Amino acid sequence: MRATRARLRALVQSPGPLSLSTLLPEVVDLPEERAAVLDRLGRRREAAAVLALHDLDKAEAYAAACADPREACAVVLAEAVRRDPTGELAVGVLERRASKVDVLGALEALPDDAPVDRVARVVSAELARAASAHREALVVRQLLKRDNFAATLALHRERAASFVVTADSRCAACRRAFKGDAAFVRFPDGALRHRACVSPAVHVALQGGQPA
Ligand SMILES: [Zn+2]
Repeated sequence: MRATRARLRALVQSPGPLSLSTLLPEVVDLPEERAAVLDRLGRRREAAAVLALHDLDKAEAYAAACADPREACAVVLAEAVRRDPTGELAVGVLERRASKVDVLGALEALPDDAPVDRVARVVSAELARAASAHREALVVRQLLKRDNFAATLALHRERAASFVVTADSRCAACRRAFKGDAAFVRFPDGALRHRACVSPAVHVALQGGQPA
């Protein structure tokens, strides 16, 4: 077996023309070599699939290194979901390889009870990176199909957004400026209020408590 592996490796890694297809039957039981042959044949999805069944970490590294990693990453994600139906394993792949993954496809592949908060973090980072409004709209539409997602994502984006309180900023309730150490609340529409100028009912809503 060792000799076979060494011979095949040398053959596969040698430069120049090589009839790789004829090698495939030889490497049925050698997943890494089989994947290497499939890769050289340009069959990267299959290469990723063979590796994923054998060693998910290696498959992930392989897929991420592909010139066009999306298809291979999708294969790895699918295998991760098959191995761990809670979605934890797949979300780990998504977190590590966010820039290599087709996020739309990944959202469809993830089980419904995948850890929403972690997925939303990845997706909101992807949205920040998204080059076009069209793509952002696609991602958002996909997210909205997952009921518990919209709110979590909105929260992440809201938290990630930065804003500046200037000397000209005024409290929406009392119209006075904000002193340096003043506690304030920012509403989803961007309005600012002193904490003391927020009605008790809103405090209850913000803190999730019961009215006294
Ligand atoms: Zn005020």
